Amino acid sequence: MNYRHAYHAGNFADVFKHILLTRLIAYLKRKDKAFRVYDTHAGIGFYDLDAEEAQKTQEWKLGVGRVLDANPPKEIEALISDWRAAVAASGEGRYPGSPAIARHLLRKQDRLSLYELHPEDFPVLAGNFSNDYQTRLLNLDGWLAAGAHIPPKEARGLMLIDPPFEDGDDFDRMIDALNKARKRWAGGTIALWYPVKRRSHTDEWLETLRLLKFPDLIDVQLSIRDPRTATTLNGCGMVIANPPYTLRSELGMLMPWLRDTLREEKGADFRIQDLSAR
Ligand code: SAM
Repeated sequence: MNYRHAYHAGNFADVFKHILLTRLIAYLKRKDKAFRVYDTHAGIGFYDLDAEEAQKTQEWKLGVGRVLDANPPKEIEALISDWRAAVAASGEGRYPGSPAIARHLLRKQDRLSLYELHPEDFPVLAGNFSNDYQTRLLNLDGWLAAGAHIPPKEARGLMLIDPPFEDGDDFDRMIDALNKARKRWAGGTIALWYPVKRRSHTDEWLETLRLLKFPDLIDVQLSIRDPRTATTLNGCGMVIANPPYTLRSELGMLMPWLRDTLREEKGADFRIQDLSAR
């Protein structure tokens, strides 16, 4: 386990993932009934942007830095305001990870389950959420979440699966987790974040997902430059099972703005596609 998210916190991929996460949670909050958010690969929760790791790569400047400097039109502001509020609440010079963003948006009836396996990262995560009765901390393999840990007793909710992709196996594990989750928690929303280096590679994986014939599955992808080289993170995407019915129109507004705000080179683009059987 060599991956350390501290080097990448707040980069374009985090901003994309976290803004989408806030839209999924905003939809769950339309009803009073409690929900649970599972974050299967949680990281440490908050990231210091002045720390050595973040300073070394400066990736956050091209992500959260760009979005905070931008002046979005009203309709975009409405879609990113939850994310903006979570960033502001994390404090000056800090960027919130997915656990902090989800936690910021919970109401008192909602719950959060955080899985983190790294021996150094788990205690930091636990320190950030200690004494929080709404948050369950699990120093366990996050892939277990899609097995016996669901469905939650709240019945409603969301699972974010955001592994480090240190090896190619995480793409296969995602499919396995999605299949398991579908059987055990058919009504849950499952969000799978994935990196895009060479698009032809991820397109093969997406085709495998399409063949699973899920009733409601969408893919949204953002590239900050032409996704043709296998060595750099050129883009990223999220596959969402059981997306809120409001998401497609929200993405239609949000994605062109994110592409223009986060673009690095010619060839920046976005794509929204339906992977479901309908
Ligand atoms: N979701 C976080 C966020 O958005 O702020 C970032 C997560 S980072 C991409 C992936 C994390 O997964 C790392 O902190 C890594 O230590 C952890 N990890 C790796 N393998 C894991 C496993 N099998 N179970 C749980 N966590 C794991």
